[in-house]
Order: sequence, then C-alpha cells, then structure tokens
Amino acid sequence: SYNRRQGKKPPFERIRPSAKLQPNSDDEFDPEHSVPNNGDMEPSVNREKTFEDDVDDRGDAEHTDEKNSGTQFASAIETNRDVKHADEQITDSPAQSAVAKASAINGVGAELLSSVQPDDLIGMIKNAERNILLLNQARVHALEDLHKILSEKETLKGEINNLEKRLAEADAQIKFASQEKVHAELLEDQLENLQNELINRGGSGKSELELYENRSKISNEGALLARDGHIHSLSKEVDSLRTENLALKYDIQALKSMLSNLKNTDKRIVTLENESSFLETSMKELESKLSVSQQESSNISTLKTECKDLWAKVENLQLLLDKATKQADQAILVLQQNQDLRKKVDKLEESLEAATIFKASSEKTQQYNELMQQKIKLLEERLQKSDEEIYSYVQLYQESIKEFRDTLNSLKEESKKRALDEPVDDMPWEFWSCLLLTIDGWVLENKILNSEAVPLREMVWKRDRRICDAYVICKEKTEDEVISTFLQLISSQASPGLHVIHIAAEMAPVAKVGGLGDVVTGLGKALQKKGHLVEIVLPKYDCMQYDRIRDLRVLDATVHSYFDGKLFQNKVWTGTVEGLPVYFIEPHHPSKFFWRGQYYGEQDDFKRFSFFSRAALELLLQVGKKPDIIHCHDWQTAFVAPLYWDLYFPKGLNSARICFTCHNFEYQGAAPASELASCGLDVQQLHRPDRMQDNSAYDRVNPIKGAIVFSNIVTTVSPTYAQEVRTAEGGKGLHSTLNFHSKKFMGILNGIDTDAWDPATDIFLKVQYTANDLQGKAENKAAMRRHLRLSSADDSQPLVGCITRLVPQKGVHLIRHAIYRTLEMGGQFVLLGSSPVPHIQREFEGIANQFQDHEHIRLILKYDESLSRYIYAASDMFIIPSIFEPCGLTQMIAMRYGSVPIVRKTGGLNDSVFDVDDDTIPYQYRNGFTFATPDEQGLNGALDRAFNLYNNDSETWQQLVQKNMNIDFSWHSSASQYEELYAKSIARARAATSR
Ligand code: ADP
Repeated sequence: SYNRRQGKKPPFERIRPSAKLQPNSDDEFDPEHSVPNNGDMEPSVNREKTFEDDVDDRGDAEHTDEKNSGTQFASAIETNRDVKHADEQITDSPAQSAVAKASAINGVGAELLSSVQPDDLIGMIKNAERNILLLNQARVHALEDLHKILSEKETLKGEINNLEKRLAEADAQIKFASQEKVHAELLEDQLENLQNELINRGGSGKSELELYENRSKISNEGALLARDGHIHSLSKEVDSLRTENLALKYDIQALKSMLSNLKNTDKRIVTLENESSFLETSMKELESKLSVSQQESSNISTLKTECKDLWAKVENLQLLLDKATKQADQAILVLQQNQDLRKKVDKLEESLEAATIFKASSEKTQQYNELMQQKIKLLEERLQKSDEEIYSYVQLYQESIKEFRDTLNSLKEESKKRALDEPVDDMPWEFWSCLLLTIDGWVLENKILNSEAVPLREMVWKRDRRICDAYVICKEKTEDEVISTFLQLISSQASPGLHVIHIAAEMAPVAKVGGLGDVVTGLGKALQKKGHLVEIVLPKYDCMQYDRIRDLRVLDATVHSYFDGKLFQNKVWTGTVEGLPVYFIEPHHPSKFFWRGQYYGEQDDFKRFSFFSRAALELLLQVGKKPDIIHCHDWQTAFVAPLYWDLYFPKGLNSARICFTCHNFEYQGAAPASELASCGLDVQQLHRPDRMQDNSAYDRVNPIKGAIVFSNIVTTVSPTYAQEVRTAEGGKGLHSTLNFHSKKFMGILNGIDTDAWDPATDIFLKVQYTANDLQGKAENKAAMRRHLRLSSADDSQPLVGCITRLVPQKGVHLIRHAIYRTLEMGGQFVLLGSSPVPHIQREFEGIANQFQDHEHIRLILKYDESLSRYIYAASDMFIIPSIFEPCGLTQMIAMRYGSVPIVRKTGGLNDSVFDVDDDTIPYQYRNGFTFATPDEQGLNGALDRAFNLYNNDSETWQQLVQKNMNIDFSWHSSASQYEELYAKSIARARAATSR
C-alpha cells in the first residue's frame, strides 16, 4: 500500500504470475520490460487495474458518504459488493489466483511449495495479499457502518423520549386547559347570574358605561338614600359587586388570553401529534433499519468468524509468504548471482577466448621478441664488437694514416731539405755573390739585423734553393718587399707552429655547462689540426664525465701552489679528451674546491677559480713550459692575466702572450677587493679604476676587467656581440674599459666541432643521416616522439625544439610563449633545459607538469647531451628567442642537423642566421627566420612565417634544410682568425724585444 501511495509498484510486481519462468532471461528483471505497454496485457495486469479502479471509486464514494450520512450505509454495502466482486474476479481469474494458490499450497503441503516455481509463488503471494487487503477493507467498512447505525439508533431513541415527554406535557396542558375552560364557563355563568341580578335589581342589561352611569346614579341616589340604611347596605353590596365585577372582568381577560393560548396549544398539539406520527413512522423505519442492521451485524459476526478463519489462513499464508519471500529472495539472489555469474562467465569466456588468441599470438610474439631480443643482443654485441673493431681499425687506420702522413711529410721535408740542402747548381756564382753582397749591404744600411743576416748568409753560402727562389720571385719587387720575404724565410724556418695552452673551467664533453666548453674543445682541435701544439688545463671536478677521458692517470708529482698565505699541494692528472692533451688539477685544499657535485654556483666560486688560475700557472712554471700563447676564458680563469704579468713572468714563465676570451659579459665574477689577495695578487696595485676595480661597485674587483687590462689579445665570441658590448646598454658596465682597450679587442664568431656534431656519424641518434638522405631525420623524429610519448598521428606535424640554459638572457618568457603559440598553430614542442635560477626552474617545472601527459608538448628539465642530439635531429624548427646572445652554438648545431632556426637578431645569432625573406641578403646565405623586437609579436611573426613555409611549401623547406646542413660552421675559419691574432701578437712582441 505504501508503494501504491507513492505511485510505485512493489518490486515483485515486475514478475508476471502468468509469465513463463525464464530465469536466465534478462527481460525478467528489466524494469522497462516489466509492464507490457501494448494492447495484449496479461490478465493479471488487467485484473489489477480493475481492482485499483474499484479501490479508487470506493475511495471517492467514501468521500461523498462522509457528507451524506443518508447514503453511507448503502455505500458501505456497495463497497462490500465491490470487494466481493473483486474477490470473485480474483477467484475467477484464469491465472493462478493467490487464494487458490494459497489453498492449493495449504492442501498439498509445504513440500509442494518448494516445487512451486518462484514466479508462480510470487504471483500467488501477490493475489493473496490483494484478497487480504480487500477483506480487511470490507471488515473495516462493516464495523464503521455498525458503529454509525448504533449511534443513529441512540439518537433516535433520545428523540423519541423527548417527543414522549413533550406529549405528556401537552396532555397535562390540555388537561389544565379543559379545567380552566370549565372554570371559565362557571365564571361566565356567575357573571350572567350577576348581570341578571343587576338587571333584576336596577335595570336591564346595560353597557358597562351605563352600569357606570347607573352606578354614579345609584351613588347619587345613595347619597339621597344615605339616610336610609337599607340603601346603605345595598350600596355596600353594589360596591362589593363592583369590585367582584372588576375582578371577574380581569379574570375574563385572563381567561380569554388563556383561551387563545389554549387554541395555540391545540394547534401545537396537532403539530406535535403530526410530529409524533412522523416520529412513529421514522421509529418504524429505524426499527426496520435496526432489524436490517441487526441482520447485518449477525452477518458481520459471521463475517467476523469468516474473517477469523481468513486471518488464520492469512497468518498461515503470511508464514508461507514469509518463507516463500525468503525463498524467492534467495531465489532472486541466486538468480541475480546466477546472472552475474553467467555474465562473468560470458565475459571470462570472451576474455578467455581473447586471451587464448592473445596468448597464442603473444606467445608467438614473445618467442619472436625473445628471438628478436637475442638477435638484437647478438647484433648489439656484434655491433659493439664491430664498433670496437672499426674503432680500433679506424684508430689503427688513423694512426697509420698519421704515420703515413708523418713519414710522407718527413719524406717530403727530407726531400725538400735534401732538395734545399742540395746546392743549386744551375745558377751562376755571380748570382750568389751578388746575393751575399746585397745582404751585407742591408746590414750596413741597418735594414736588417746582423743576427738576421747570419742565417741568410748561411743560406747563400750553401746555395739554398729557398733563397734562390725567393730572390727570383721578388725580382720585380721593391727592396723592402724582398727584405720581408727574406725575413719570412728565416722565421718560418725557426717555428713549425705555435704552442697554445688553454686554461679554462669547461671543456666539452667532459666538463660542459654551455658554449664555453664547446669553444675550448672546438678551437683547440682546429688549432691542433693547423699544426699548433695545443694543451688544456682544467680543474679536476668530481662531477666530470670521466668516461670521455682517455688514458687518465695521475702523475707521480705534486705541484705546490700559493693560497691565503700558504702553499697547498695539487695532484696533477693527465689524459686526452677528443684527442687533445689535458692536465687536470686536483687541489688538496681543505675546502675541496672541485668536489662539490657541480661546476658553478658555489658560495666560494671566486676563491675556487682564483685558486685554480694560480695553480695552473704554477703547473706551467714547474713543468718548464714555454708556451707562445696562454689562452684563458671567462671570469673563472681571467685571474691568469694579472697573475702572469705580476707573478709568473718575473719567475720565468715569460714566453707567452696572453689571450682572453669573454664568452658572456653578463658573468663578471666581481667580489670584494680583499678577496683578490688570496691568490697572491696585490690588492692595492690592482684595485684601481684603470686596473681591476669594478666600474660600478667600487669596493669590488672585477676579474673580467683585469683580464681586459692585462691580456695581449681580448676577444669575444661574435662580431655583433663585440659591437654590442662596447655600448652602455650591452657592456654590462665594461663598455668604457673595452672602448679604452679597443685595439686589442675583437669579435670572432665561434664555430662548432663538426666532427663531434655530425648527423652522419652521431652514435646517439637512432638513424644517422646526411643532407642527401633526409629519411633518417624523419625516422629520428618518429623515434623521439615515441621516446617522449608524443603523438605520432601526423608525420608532417612540425616539431619545434629548444635546448638551452633557462636564464633570463635566453628570453625565458618568449620560450614559454613559444610553447603555447606552437600548440595553437598545431605544432609540437620539445624543450630540454635546466635553470640555475630557482624561480625560473620552478616556473618551468609547473609548465612541465601541466603538459606532463600532453601529446604535443614535452619539457625535460635537465642537462642531457644524448637527448639534446636526438632533439636536434628530430626537430624541424629550432627556437632561440634570446634577449642577448654572445654567439650561440645551438643555432649552428641545429642547422647542421637540419633544423631550421627561428632566432632573435642579436649577437652571434645575427652573425649566423639570415632571414629567408630578407632581400638585402644574398639568397645563398639565407638560412632561417629572424625577428628584431624581443616580444611576443616579434616571435609570432617569425614562427608564423616558419610554419607557413613548412606547411605550404615542403619543397622549399626541404631545400632550406639541405642547404643549412651543408653550411660550413666548422672552426676552420674562426681558428684561422685566432691563429692570425696569436701570430700578430707574437710578432709584435718579438719586434718589441728586438727593438
Ligand atoms: P650558452 O653558452 O649561453 O649556454 P650556447 O648556445 O653558446 O649557450 O651553448 C649551449 C650548449 O649547451 C650547446 O651545445 C647546447 O647543446 C648545450 N646545452 C644547453 N642546455 C643543455 C641541456 N639541458 N642538455 C644538453 N645540452 C645542453
């Protein structure tokens, strides 16, 4: 009933009693299919609907009955009839009615119940419930009716009693009235008698007035008769009569009113009689009703007994129902479990099937994989072996080539020598004599030194071919030109090459933070190739890549170096890096200067590197080196310049010219002046505006400024940057110093080590490739996408790369913008970088997290050289939106790997990247996309143009890629410039000493 009130159907109504049992059918428990919504409804559903309608009708009837008690009884009977009707319907239903089922169950026993199907059982229970409900309702209505009838009977009885009382009152009044009537009649008779008596005595019946008049007459007469006593008594009598008469008069009036009352009473009696008769009839009616109700109550009592029986049955049924419900619940549960199980079984079967298929295939794949892995392993091993073999062959080959070259050269030189040594016979003696005299003349005329004349004379004496040839060549030239040619002959004879020692804080790939490391190795190798003796001195960091050092060994010797008033031991290690000889200095200082797990960024960096600078010079001095050039780099080894001139030149390390290269004027290493004393420099001498005093923080000393002042050659890493740093805006406070020393300052564009950065031989790539075969580049792109979990859905989707230190100089806000802009334009972006600036590192960590699982963006915030190579190879474009850039190597490496640079026009970027749309630049030099203003619009412009060309003109793009890959970014020409600078400086020095 609760459910019905709520407009819900009880859950078991979903099971149609007449429906065939289908325990495995999903429809059975599908609420949407539980009630048919088409024309052919199940009988039980129809019956239920009728019953509900009946119940609703009855509800309405009850509602009306409450207002109209006259029809209440009839309504109650009507309801009973409805109930009976419903009951009959239930019993007559062809479906298994609940009652029938219940009796059947009672009859057959509980065992049968277990055999009954749950569906039927639920139907039966449902019907039994309905019947019980009907019987209860009928019983309630009958009881209600009985109560009403009894109360009605009581009120009628009360009414009858009232009427009887009123009847008795009316009878008493009638009696009283009849007595009063008799009394009135008596009074009337008396009155009549009195009137007659009056008439008899004094006149006839007259009016009262007349009587009054008579009375007054009598009174008058009385006065007359006063004397007469008789008359007196008569008048007394008359007076009494008069008063009596008056009293009678009042009585009569009262009687009259009583009479009218009596008449009214008669009328009331009549109405009362009518009422009484009406009451009698209604009494009769009530009695008949009473008898009917008595009959009904007897019926009810029988119903009661029936009801009791039914209750007993119901209780039985209830028990059975409870049992059945439990069983049904269990059955439902079992069914549900069954179904769940079935579903699970189905699923399991499906997955089993899939699994067996998968297993079969995966077993195959596994086997295949294993095989493949074994093969790969074998191949790798073989590859490694063959690599090793190749490497050893290459080494052997290189060595043998070198040997061959050496022997060839020595043979050549020997033959040259021999040829040279062999006296020239085909020239007349006059020629030689003339030559000798010319030389002597130059000496006498002070055109050459005697020391220079001696080897020249010797050459003539030996009839040397070189002097003969030189003279023949200079036949048409001026005397000065002949002299210089002759002098060159003796200088080239004296020096086979330069001895250059780099003292630096970085060297790629063993200790590299940025471009400095690349320059030291690249320039060193290039100079070495040019026939110079190049050596490197480095700190021995704990965090170096030791696996990239060959033949590392510690020397059985210690170098003592001065620091803070004491001498400290330094262990010296040697090894080769990229074919260059390297000295590693390991200070035995308690502060463990290079045992910090990082290259820079320590509190005592000034101490660490001033210590190293001095220890390096100490090493050169103690080993007895006589270098032509000591080349120091950046502020970390800038101390070398003042140390050399102040301390080591006097000590005998005096053969060198000092070259200082500043790779970035942002980092100057300024510190309180007193700190300079630690490495033995004279603070008082150096803390001066024209020496090492910082140009803005006057209490500080500036190592870079010291190197500019005390070096013979000062360079920076690109011509544009050299211009920029000579302005107040770009010089970071050193522009005035640079302008003052401008003669020895110039910018030489860095190169890259094209052997180390070569996509054709790069072992870190998945596939090596060249400009003529770009398929390998595409394969690297696909492999890197997989490696970084980027979408590979669209091969042609452009990939933008960026490899950088994340510092403000690099335009970090523009890098961040480029990430989002690339995404907007449908590209992919990979950033490899790390930052020494905590807030920038945090910011990029936030962005990296934001795009952690993004299919188009990946940020890798660390230093990883092998990944950097992969990114160069995989990317289509390479972004460098620097605010300033001394040189920048990444644009060159990117181009060598076929990635088109998108750069801001500044510093070295301006000297190496030329816009494809810039008509002022010859077409063959155009190689990338540039923008001038370091803001988002500027960047967008360049990026949009790059995307546009990439998306819309793949042919031109490919040509651009190929052209870029073939550009010569090697150190060759840059090294030549350094060579020239070194040579000039040495020549100047020689010229100075000879003077
Ligand atoms: P800077 O010297 O100002 O750092 P350069 O462009 O001159 O910039 O040189 C950067 C060099 O450092 C390049 O060789 C570049 O590949 C490398 N590099 C920068 N950041 C990373 C990194 N996170 N992982 C690997 N290599 C890096």
